[in-house]
Amino acid sequence: MKLTQPKHAAPHMADQMRDVEPVICYSPDTLPQPDFAKMKALRVAAKQTGRITVPPRDAACIEVPAGGFFRITSVEGPQVGDLNLWNAKDLGERFYSGKTRALHGTHLSTGDRMWSSFPAMRPMATIVDDTLDWYGFDHFGGSVHDVIGTRCDPYTGRLLSGGDYHHCCHSNLTRALAAHSNLPLHEAEAHVHDVLNVFMCTGFTRDTGQYFMKASPVRPGDYLEFFAEIDLLVGLSACPGGDCSSEHSSDTAACYPLEISVWSPDATAQSDHQMPQMNPYDRSHGVS
Ligand SMILES: [Zn+2]
Repeated sequence: MKLTQPKHAAPHMADQMRDVEPVICYSPDTLPQPDFAKMKALRVAAKQTGRITVPPRDAACIEVPAGGFFRITSVEGPQVGDLNLWNAKDLGERFYSGKTRALHGTHLSTGDRMWSSFPAMRPMATIVDDTLDWYGFDHFGGSVHDVIGTRCDPYTGRLLSGGDYHHCCHSNLTRALAAHSNLPLHEAEAHVHDVLNVFMCTGFTRDTGQYFMKASPVRPGDYLEFFAEIDLLVGLSACPGGDCSSEHSSDTAACYPLEISVWSPDATAQSDHQMPQMNPYDRSHGVS
């Protein structure tokens, strides 16, 4: 947090420096654009091939084939979800929330893509529908579906409260990945990463820049739908914070399940889909 009483005097040009217009670091217009017409045609040809319910304060994993779709739906009551994505064939390639934030902004919606870690750095999924797109940004600077938070976890909980809580999203995702991929718990934990906070309403306070959360506007029936650019393993935790209106990392909040449905096109349509290539950088890093 910035000091309210700075220890150093401002230079005489301070106001002019603060008045310099910002420039957008990464213009999304220069990125490869999604082919929405093709996605629409694939969606029409897609049939529901899978569905799982993520129980409250727990997580689940499901695979989605490249060229298919998955939809996260709120059921029963307001609930936020912490989403991890992996390449189903290589857990080393996973969602990179920081780079996605740099490319698309603090909160995602229709048309934004979820980018993978280095060295692959390619779109893993593209958001194709968002029933909460009406929310925009509220007057606190809050919005939904952020890539600014991390995931609630027992390590931070221990630092802040001294107690152990085992149903934070980090632990939920660890257990779900271990069970799905038949990995030892500690090996699975190393693959869990920063999330897309689905349905969560968050921002940074305007005066101190602190991360805040507030009650999610999500209602049963709301959903966020994704196109799978590559073969995906999807992990989702129904956060112990429920709608995240008060606290997480405890059993205090009212929590509800979330549902993931998977929609796959037929084999012909699917074989038509070209997965994005791995990033073409040669990885020589200046060493010849
Ligand atoms: Zn959580």
